[in-house]
Amino acid sequence: MSDSYDLVVIGAGPAGYPAAIRGGQNKLKVACVDEWKNTDGTYTFGGTCLNAGCIPSKALLESSELYHRAKEEFAQHGIRIGEIKLDLAQMQKRRAAIVKGMTSGIAALLKAAGVVGLQGHGRLLPGNRVQVRGHDGSEKTLQAKHVVLASGSTPIRLSAVPHDGKYIVDSWNALEFDAVPKRLGVIGAGVIGLELGSVWRRLGSEVTVLEALADLLPMVDQAVAREAQRHFNKQGLDIKLGAKVLRAAASGAAVDVVYSDAQGEHTLQVDKLVVAVGRRPFTEDLLAEGTGVELDARGFIEVDEHCRTAAPNVWAIGDVVRGAMLAHKGKEEGIMVADLIAGRYGEVNYKVIPSVIYTAPEIAWVGLTEEQVKASGRPYKVGTFPFAASGRARAMEAAQGMAKVVAATDDDEILGVHVIGPMAGELIAEAVLAMEYSASTEDIQRTIHAHPTLCEAIHEAALAADKRAIDAINR
Ligand code: FAD
Ligand code: NAD
Repeated sequence: MSDSYDLVVIGAGPAGYPAAIRGGQNKLKVACVDEWKNTDGTYTFGGTCLNAGCIPSKALLESSELYHRAKEEFAQHGIRIGEIKLDLAQMQKRRAAIVKGMTSGIAALLKAAGVVGLQGHGRLLPGNRVQVRGHDGSEKTLQAKHVVLASGSTPIRLSAVPHDGKYIVDSWNALEFDAVPKRLGVIGAGVIGLELGSVWRRLGSEVTVLEALADLLPMVDQAVAREAQRHFNKQGLDIKLGAKVLRAAASGAAVDVVYSDAQGEHTLQVDKLVVAVGRRPFTEDLLAEGTGVELDARGFIEVDEHCRTAAPNVWAIGDVVRGAMLAHKGKEEGIMVADLIAGRYGEVNYKVIPSVIYTAPEIAWVGLTEEQVKASGRPYKVGTFPFAASGRARAMEAAQGMAKVVAATDDDEILGVHVIGPMAGELIAEAVLAMEYSASTEDIQRTIHAHPTLCEAIHEAALAADKRAIDAINR
């Protein structure tokens, strides 16, 4: 086979593999190269998301939540069972099997779309050529009409907290613990800190989360963030805000973490310490001299709104470029780019990207927070509906949290929707679709929602924005 392609994609994470598949669907000749290596020495497609991120973390969140509910809630339902025992080895086996199934599924999807999948390191050379160093020691150069860079991101490390992969670990290591740490420290109360902190707390760890900022979840609508903080406290997650970590060192089988807050300097001793202080774009050995691709001051590949880099016919997508580090954002960029390359229409609506934090209760939102709308000066109205008034949530023994709709007063356009509660990550899809079509609260008000369902909370919150809620008192 000739080594000349219409499109070569470097990286087969949730940004790269959809670009390659859509390229194949668009009848382009496509190759996709990925270097991911697992801790057991195997090579798989799927990137961070499938191998070490979204999927394994959700597998453990589900298992640990079931364990927690069996222990704490079954009796309330009138279900009496004997002693409930944790089989962590089985839980981890299930997690690994899900990952294996999903990653081998990507290989099959690439093949079905006619994409040549290559496992090895890809490096962009000047003139739209891609050097591929195979894991089998082979080396070749592909000529491409278009190249898409989708090399993703990697955890940020703190120099004063030296990573050793055993006691001081990153999120990937923390997904693969083979024993429940008695005392778990987490640096960073961001999305990873809260999700992984929840997993290990439910399985029995004493979890302390050290967060440098004074506020929890500053990017989230503050009414939702306050509600979340209340639930996390109740669950026993010890979140210390305004805690600046100065240094940490493993000594024996423990880690001493020194941090300072308004009260002074403290030492915390834990058995494992997870560093979850954000991720940085990964471009190591990706670009040879003279490609013309430029990086910004923070190391992201510079792109325009259509993900074009400064080099002709070289595109970049996903975590390695600006914007939210989310799998679905990368996926839409990949699809857009592969459609544009094929001469079709492509666009990403960056204003309507949903975010979900998979804690219990889940937190999900799209669009602007109430604080952002207020700061913009545009007159607005708010409608909220508590899940305590939802029959379905009560039947599920999950009547916590609320749905909140923020809309413009002048033309009734929905500006943001925020949910904390059961299945919030699923419920937000309705709001995303509504906002994609610039819907008003009246549009949702006039849409029939099945009863009894959780999504009635969105309906009622939209009604509440005009003080016309039926199932809750309008305030
Ligand atoms: P990646 O998934 O990082 O994939 C990049 C791929 O490129 C990798 O396989 C890498 O090995 C390969 N690569 C890099 N350089 C080269 C090279 N030179 N040659 C060949 N291959 C190369 N996001 C969500 O939306 N929902 C979630 O629930 C969620 N949960 C997460 C949980 C955790 C613990 C973590 C760490 C992340 C989570 N994320 C989640 C974020 C999500 O994983 C990322 O946003 C997403 O994976 C980014 O996709 P990507 O394709 O840009 O990069
Ligand atoms: P994050 O940016 O969400 O949170 C990092 C937190 O660490 C912040 O609150 C920050 O203030 C804090 N921090 C930074 N430096 C610190 C220090 N020295 N001491 C104490 N606290 C410090 O990053 P993350 O949680 O590492 O997640 C990385 C990325 O992965 C995020 O962009 C997120 O979008 C993505 N992700 C998404 C999901 C999801 O969609 N459910 C899940 C996991 C990860």
